[in-house]
Amino acid sequence: MKSSNFISAILENKCPRCRKGKLFKNDNPYRLQKVLDMHDNCPVCDQRTELEIGFWYGTGYVSYVLAVMFSVFNLGWYWLFFGITWRDNSIFYWLIVNGIILTLSMPLLMRLSRTLYLTFYIGHDPEAENRKKEKI
Ligand SMILES: [Zn+2]
Repeated sequence: MKSSNFISAILENKCPRCRKGKLFKNDNPYRLQKVLDMHDNCPVCDQRTELEIGFWYGTGYVSYVLAVMFSVFNLGWYWLFFGITWRDNSIFYWLIVNGIILTLSMPLLMRLSRTLYLTFYIGHDPEAENRKKEKI
């Protein structure tokens, strides 16, 4: 199995240590009851995912920053394509559109923020998979 690079490993919600194992049990984030169902340990390299009790509380800050960045991005293309001015209600239309897009992408953002947060703490180890095999 080929391991992903830094960016694609994050976007695909892969384990930051081996960049091969999936962090989430279910591939489809829109099965909302299972959106945050994670493996306790990476299925490939055995890296623990929840490093300590309450580890995931910190992801609130990450998802907040992601939501702000995403809103700025939405503001950019909306401005380009539809134009925004203070003289009419266009800023409110953008707020509504942005709110809808943010809500619809929430499952993806929630997963992305967990993956990013774990990536802050866990460095890449290309040999992680082999090391696990040695252990067994
Ligand atoms: Zn792994």
